[in-house]
Amino acid sequence: MSFSSLGLSEQLVRATADQGYETPSPIQQQAIPAVLSGKDVMAAAQTGTGKTAGFTLPLLQRLAENPRTGKGPRALILTPTRELAAQVHDSVNLYSKYVPTKAAVVFGGVKINPQMMKLRKGLDVLVATPGRLMDLYQQNAVRFNEVEILVLDEADRMLDMGFIRDIRKILALLPAKRQNLLFSATFSNEIRTLAQGLLDNPVQVEVAARNTTAEKVKQSVYPVDQSQKTALLSKLVRDNAWDQVLVFTRTKHGANRLTQKLEKDGITAAAIHGNKSQGARTRALADFKAGEVRVLVATDIAARGLDIKQLPQVVNFELPNVPEDYVHRIGRTGRAGESGHALSLVSADEGKLLAGIEKLIKKQLPRKEVEGFEPKNNLPLKPKAKADPSKARNRRPQGGNGKNFGPKPAGRSGGRGRGGQGEGQGRGQGQGRSGRPAQRQSA
Ligand code: AMP
Repeated sequence: MSFSSLGLSEQLVRATADQGYETPSPIQQQAIPAVLSGKDVMAAAQTGTGKTAGFTLPLLQRLAENPRTGKGPRALILTPTRELAAQVHDSVNLYSKYVPTKAAVVFGGVKINPQMMKLRKGLDVLVATPGRLMDLYQQNAVRFNEVEILVLDEADRMLDMGFIRDIRKILALLPAKRQNLLFSATFSNEIRTLAQGLLDNPVQVEVAARNTTAEKVKQSVYPVDQSQKTALLSKLVRDNAWDQVLVFTRTKHGANRLTQKLEKDGITAAAIHGNKSQGARTRALADFKAGEVRVLVATDIAARGLDIKQLPQVVNFELPNVPEDYVHRIGRTGRAGESGHALSLVSADEGKLLAGIEKLIKKQLPRKEVEGFEPKNNLPLKPKAKADPSKARNRRPQGGNGKNFGPKPAGRSGGRGRGGQGEGQGRGQGQGRSGRPAQRQSA
């Protein structure tokens, strides 16, 4: 299988060759012909599968078939985070090297004026985060009447982050006749509802089930008291001579605190999260990629979509509240056949979260203790059995059987949105045999 056999032009094939790509990835093999056919596409694909080229290459080919007549944009790619927007824009630039397509990126957290100037000059492809795009629209800096192709990239994350209202506003402004591509790592009820309203008879593309990433990655759990986590992390980084490790914390504050402590301990570290300026985030990522920073500490949302090749080691300093996020996190290692390690520092108060994760990935993770770091409060080896089935049954009406979910809160806030995700993606949660309670995570 080659890129040219998928129907891509010689110019685009040459651009992939320049990147050193030899064969199209599975998502590309399916998505490229589907997009080239002009049909709507609904694709289940995570970061790391090559999805960006999967929609960008055929999109560029379709645009190259006709020159731009107005100021554009003719293709609109919406992404949840600034980092992802910047990375998608970089990809568009790389793949459009030999075609006369002009692209730009706009996102929040930086000055709006230079972005207005860029838009005024005219362009074909606009990569944008929804909030900033709406700001620009409201200031008459962008028009959507020439949009031929819309891409929603990481749609699940956009909904998690509360962008649904902005997305709906943008959709209402687009020309009715257009091609729609929806990419999402997971398909909650909320995403399906969005897809139903958006896509017309879509081609469905799916690669490897969500949890197969977890299969490739060697995972382990280090039971440790909360107060000892930083010291244990320092020891692991040193003892294992890790040069590049991505560490996840649950909060921005936690990410800052951990970064400072590691630095004090003589380990180079940088934090990446939503409160950091765009400049600081870009710099932290660049330093990490260049090997100048050994530890990159990130929150889930900031880490989403980061394109860091061959990451050998991921550490969960704290477990995520939503089990799905564990799968996303560990998906950052062991990419493209590389072997990867993901380890989790788990304190006794996180026992319930660990149980939820093990239920989702359908396996029990091996526990490893480090001498001198044995926890005073033990972690249960197995999820605790429910003591009182009658009480548990009383909880059922809320969660149902995990398939038919009740109405979700319509909140825009991250917290509530994430609760909705946990419900909507309830595979693995609430799938107990009938009569057994649907196990739920406390968010
Ligand atoms: P993505 O899932 O789009 O974030 O892509 C993940 C990484 O895979 C990026 O670094 C791409 O440059 C790389 N990539 C995309 N397509 C291919 C391919 N066909 N062969 C090798 N690497 C690829």
